[in-house]
Amino acid sequence: MARNVSLPQYPPTRCVGCGAPYAPELHVVVDATERPDLVQRIKDDILHCAICPHCGVIMSFGMPLLVYRPGEPVPVLYSPVPIANPQQRDMHAEMLLAALSRQLGPDWDDRLANDVYVVERDRLPEVVDVNPDLLAGGRDPSLRHAMDLFLHCSSWEQARAAVEAHRDLLLSREAEIVLRRGIDRTHDNGLDDAVATLTDHLAVLRECRERGVAAAFAGRVDGSGCTPKAWRVG
Ligand SMILES: [Zn+2]
Repeated sequence: MARNVSLPQYPPTRCVGCGAPYAPELHVVVDATERPDLVQRIKDDILHCAICPHCGVIMSFGMPLLVYRPGEPVPVLYSPVPIANPQQRDMHAEMLLAALSRQLGPDWDDRLANDVYVVERDRLPEVVDVNPDLLAGGRDPSLRHAMDLFLHCSSWEQARAAVEAHRDLLLSREAEIVLRRGIDRTHDNGLDDAVATLTDHLAVLRECRERGVAAAFAGRVDGSGCTPKAWRVG
């Protein structure tokens, strides 16, 4: 029989709107394969929100969260309460890992506790269903290497070769996140040319996913075999 790994809590609360007491269901452990609906709530950033059953007022709760992703390269994500201090963060992590261990029973593996990826709540919707190790600061450099080949070349033919050689990495959602963050960062730094370059490269990868690699590059190469990119990333 399937075991329920996801773990809700029901903290007694009082509605800020009508004052009625109620106990919302708020999950502190989410098994991503068991509860895709809760993963969607994380992506919508409403997992720890509740609606008052009496008046409909929405309240937001500061709860810690462990996301368990069986079979993934990074199986456990821990997202602390945003306002928690370091001691509280550690304490909550310990409590939630103990809870996950109980929920998993014989399926628990001590390695899960040694390999926890900590992600702040404002970043969680973006990374809850990707491999964070591929992103900046992660332990797997393969996407960074592929992205370098794709970005730091002078012709669209070379860029296409990079996509063909590293299709799984460059057409992944992780690649989309890396480029979006790069665009935000360069935009904040006022580097307009770099923003334009990265935006163009992001568009190419999206077209590759939607229309195929050949179609995406067809409009960008001029037949010379060495079509200069409009911009260079320097
Ligand atoms: Zn109410």
